[in-house]
Amino acid sequence: MRLGRFFMRAGVLSLFAVAGLGLAQTKSAPQTPAAPKKEPMSVQLPGAAFAAMQTINPEHIRWHVKFLSHDLLEGRGTGQRGGDIAAEYMATQFAEDGLKPAGDNGSYLQKVPLVGITTLPETQFTLLPKRGPAMNLKPLDEYVAYDQTQQSQSDVDADIVFVGYGIEAPEYKWDDYKGVNVRGKVLLMLVNEPPSDDPNFFKGKALTYYGRWTYKYEEAARKGAAGVILIHKEDMASYPWEVVRNSNSGEKSYLKLEGPALKVASWVQLEVAGKLVQGSGMDLEKMMAEAATREFHPVDLGAKLKAQMVSKVRTFESNNVVAMLPGSDRNLKSEAVMYTAHYDHLGIRPEMAGDNIYNGAADNATGCGILLELARAFSVAKDRPGRSIIFASVTAEEQGLLGSEYLGKYPPVAAGKISLDLNYDDVKPLGAPEEVEVSGAERTTFYPWVQATAKEFRLAIRPDARPEAGQFYRSDHFSLARVGIPSFSINEGMKFKGHDAAWGMEQEKDYVSKHYHQPSDEYHPEMDFVGDAAMARFGFALGWEAAAMPRPIGWQKGDEFEAARGRQ
Ligand SMILES: [Zn+2]
Repeated sequence: MRLGRFFMRAGVLSLFAVAGLGLAQTKSAPQTPAAPKKEPMSVQLPGAAFAAMQTINPEHIRWHVKFLSHDLLEGRGTGQRGGDIAAEYMATQFAEDGLKPAGDNGSYLQKVPLVGITTLPETQFTLLPKRGPAMNLKPLDEYVAYDQTQQSQSDVDADIVFVGYGIEAPEYKWDDYKGVNVRGKVLLMLVNEPPSDDPNFFKGKALTYYGRWTYKYEEAARKGAAGVILIHKEDMASYPWEVVRNSNSGEKSYLKLEGPALKVASWVQLEVAGKLVQGSGMDLEKMMAEAATREFHPVDLGAKLKAQMVSKVRTFESNNVVAMLPGSDRNLKSEAVMYTAHYDHLGIRPEMAGDNIYNGAADNATGCGILLELARAFSVAKDRPGRSIIFASVTAEEQGLLGSEYLGKYPPVAAGKISLDLNYDDVKPLGAPEEVEVSGAERTTFYPWVQATAKEFRLAIRPDARPEAGQFYRSDHFSLARVGIPSFSINEGMKFKGHDAAWGMEQEKDYVSKHYHQPSDEYHPEMDFVGDAAMARFGFALGWEAAAMPRPIGWQKGDEFEAARGRQ
């Protein structure tokens, strides 16, 4: 019953009307089917796909969420017992669906080697300005630093070069390095990207990956630099020093090292950078203004960083869970469409008084429940799309998208043959959505299908409210985008049936302030999973379409990930 009613609410009815497939569930419904319109593009799912999609059930998602967020799973910490139980649960469900294992050695598990680094108090971090006394910086108050080489000790005694934003972006004709050899140097740089309102220049106000500090570290490491010092300026970073401080204290996890790495990956407070630059007879404000122009050239400060990084290095492992439904087309089955959702959360804090289990019901047991329900629905379909379907539940998302990064490096099918990744992260059980968020979809050649499908589902597409915050770079789909796979996350917008958008925003605000990454992100029986089911159905339809279309999906021309697609 619930299923039938929900079906009407989600507006799948018109989908049937378009495809000419009236199903029993729609007959008793009070609404009249939408008159067949002349759509610029109509969504035509085959009957077997509709029937399978129709079995997607909010209560199934509830069961998975209830189990995965149970106290017994101890917050599903990466590399911890509870996280491993969650992985086994996902694998068991995939096995029961009859899916093919796509992990290591014929299993569902793909081992992800990880390293935890803690910067120890013995660490010394001293700036030697060109003129004036040495600046022996105070950890956490004046600077934060990690040694990314995964050694227990690294010594640095190197010249400091100011490289502006530290960006080399040929598509925007921007190069802060200008071919200067920075091997062995320490690079002082700004966060974010050159300010712009022009959508063709670093996407205007929206943040591109070039503006993220992760890119800046990676680019400097690729160029052989010994270290990076990021200058924290609150308005440029869009968050205060406390955020930098909190996310750079204690243990930080990394994938086991495979490429070049920085001995010092650090941030300093704005005043510290100002003083350092002053010692070279220069003015930071002026240098920042120069850095916002194409003519900028790296500036050797005549200053040095003398640092001794002392770290505790702990190796551990966790697993991605990967399964596959082989495609039906002889030629297309070597290609795939992928679904992802991270299963890890923040674990348990034994030293904390009271409730110390980070259950992660919304974040991201909901995404896992959706992933499992999608896997089940695809596996019961009487027919299959041409391309194979990969279901991957990844680990260590909360540690910095590490499981998905590893999956992107070692996908079960070559990245160039994966046409699309649809990711689910934190899909709140708030009831029936009337909007969907698919930020990033507009960057792919698949977008017309996304728009047409959303229309059939009567879901309005809600644009990213704050593109300047760079949300696109903060969930697992990004790990797959950066190896070229057209990828985006599917989530509800703010408008839910029976409420206005203000109510949705209120729920969001309440969640972020009281429950996000807190032990109170727990399962409650009154949670309503019809929205999660709606997102699953929407993603099911998109995935099936993508897996059946004759040509693979790509990025729009000029997109920052287009080059990576070409490399695969
Ligand atoms: Zn999270």
